[in-house]
Amino acid sequence: MQLSNRITNITKGGSDGWDVFYKARAMKNAGQDILELTIGEHDRKTDAQILRAMYDSAATGNTGYASVPGMQPLREAIAKRVEARTGVATTFENIIVTPGGQAALFATHMAVLDPGDRALYLDPYYATYPGTLRAAGAVDVPIETRPENDFQPTRDELAVSAKGARSLLINSPNNPTGVVYSQDTMQLICDVARENDLWLISDEVYDTQIWEGEHRTPRAFAGMEERTLVIGSMSKSHAMTGSRVGWIVAPRVVVPRLIDLSTSTTYGVPGFIQEAALFALNQGETLETDVGAPFQRRRLLAYETLKGTNAVRLVPSGGAMYLMLDIRPTGLSGEDFALALLDAEKIAVMPGESFGRAAAGHIRVAMTIDDDRFITALTRLVAFAQSLTA
Ligand code: PLP
Repeated sequence: MQLSNRITNITKGGSDGWDVFYKARAMKNAGQDILELTIGEHDRKTDAQILRAMYDSAATGNTGYASVPGMQPLREAIAKRVEARTGVATTFENIIVTPGGQAALFATHMAVLDPGDRALYLDPYYATYPGTLRAAGAVDVPIETRPENDFQPTRDELAVSAKGARSLLINSPNNPTGVVYSQDTMQLICDVARENDLWLISDEVYDTQIWEGEHRTPRAFAGMEERTLVIGSMSKSHAMTGSRVGWIVAPRVVVPRLIDLSTSTTYGVPGFIQEAALFALNQGETLETDVGAPFQRRRLLAYETLKGTNAVRLVPSGGAMYLMLDIRPTGLSGEDFALALLDAEKIAVMPGESFGRAAAGHIRVAMTIDDDRFITALTRLVAFAQSLTA
């Protein structure tokens, strides 16, 4: 029996650059001490108070079907938070709760694309992007940004691909680079979106993790609200990756259609998870700051540790839980470097190539192990890179 083209085309087969990750996991499972700087998972667990709120909600009977768009108090809390952070008037009617940012990425593209439409995204990109766009039936079109521009897109790069496209997906603070888009970059993106009548999908799941500069949402730029859909998530801001809870902020006319989609796909998010998310949001910024603090601290430790070496260059980052290192001075590809580093030093990093062609010759370092082991890993990584350039 033949499967659909849609589902068989989600991944294109072949090496996707995750070999290093699987090899590292196998070595770890075999008992080796691996310094794992690979995936975006906090080294702390979901806060005990949040788990208590989740338990209390379930224990008092909140275990049935939940409201598909999300429970009213949670939608209102998200709207209030969005309005307070962005200055854009927002009500619960602009919000739908989703099972994490990933489901929101899929739903937003389903909402704005017809089969065969061209859907743009910026390379380097979060690894699920191409597959998500293809799952929505679109033709995925990466736009390569360049290391010499610190991976911020230029007008030329955007304008060439924008003609005839239907949507553009952006992500700031960025995974994998940690780059936060400047005011000029965001203005440029908004201008190109308006000039080419594109839907703009803005993945802002790292919006609470800003270490330098400020977070800007395109939804707050003039003339953008009606064409912008924003993706939010509790995964990174509250260390709730396993709870699967996020949201979409959309024009009011779009939300009922997103509810139709949820009704026929996810059927919403469990009520006790939503209660826990509401509890977490009600804790205010203190908890978010606490969750992000290790990454802010480790980023500074990394800048200190990497100072003075020519063997690797740190891409100037402003946010998120990652650092991007340019290892081209070693003469190796990101993948070869990562594999050699794993063999020689038992340090696992992600090859830049796992995140698109633009990040070739780079590696992504997740700042997700404790400070001492993090500095040890970086110090050994630098020495290893230096040995290759010597
Ligand atoms: N967007 C980006 C840029 C990410 O890095 C991630 C997860 O790592 C997601 C979306 C999806 O996050 P979640 O589905 O856990 O909210």
